Amino acid sequence: MSINRILLAESVNKLFGHLGVTLSEDSIDALEAYYDAVIEANKEFNLTSITAKDEFVVKHLIDSIAGVGFIPKDASLIDVGSGGGFPSFPIAAVREDVSVTALDSTAKKMNFVGSTARFLGVKNLTTVSGRAEECKDLFSKFDVVTARAVSALPVLLEICSPLIKVGGLMLAYKTDESELENAKNALDKLKIAHKHTFEFNLPTGDRRAILVFEKMAPTPNGYPRQYGQIKKRPL
Ligand code: SAM
Repeated sequence: MSINRILLAESVNKLFGHLGVTLSEDSIDALEAYYDAVIEANKEFNLTSITAKDEFVVKHLIDSIAGVGFIPKDASLIDVGSGGGFPSFPIAAVREDVSVTALDSTAKKMNFVGSTARFLGVKNLTTVSGRAEECKDLFSKFDVVTARAVSALPVLLEICSPLIKVGGLMLAYKTDESELENAKNALDKLKIAHKHTFEFNLPTGDRRAILVFEKMAPTPNGYPRQYGQIKKRPL
């Protein structure tokens, strides 16, 4: 089923073109094929409640691509709580130079994302099943971590920041900057600095923001804590 390629290409150009983001015909082909795969798999298990074509283009594809302009060339990137592959799949499809790892605690979702990427020839996307805070072998391995719709910012900072190198970036996909106020202690404890917020409106008018953070020093000893503690006593 074809998606509205013009809506996708023109919106990306209008919203993110000034950040150097462009879509090739090949990447649009991959995103279109991914829509079909998600809709098919969604009949078997729940990947997304957004299934109407234009809404999918706007709320999954365009929204996911919003972070692309902040990813350095040839970066290694991990997407925490990737679920049905957002933003990991669109990022991998749009940026062939970036090596993307999708991570989620639900193995079934990662099996879908990984096998679909292989089937569609998106070679720069691999998957890992597990909880971010428990994947110690992945700590300090990545240049960038992304997360969309996973948890509140203090929790997100604790589960995501151990995965990046010092000097690495965390891109938090949010609706606005309002969670920053509650995250001051987490930023301080975890040695993370808020660098920049990119705010924009999706073509539907919904507000979105990419919060860009930098890891200033190694994650201090004792973090991340076990998930029970992280949830019960957020920083
Ligand atoms: N990022 C996707 C999106 O925007 O469509 C999925 C969002 S879904 C609401 C949240 C996902 O985060 C779930 O698939 C859940 O399994 C995963 N998740 C939550 N906490 C996690 C953790 N600590 N480590 C890995 N995955 C986690």
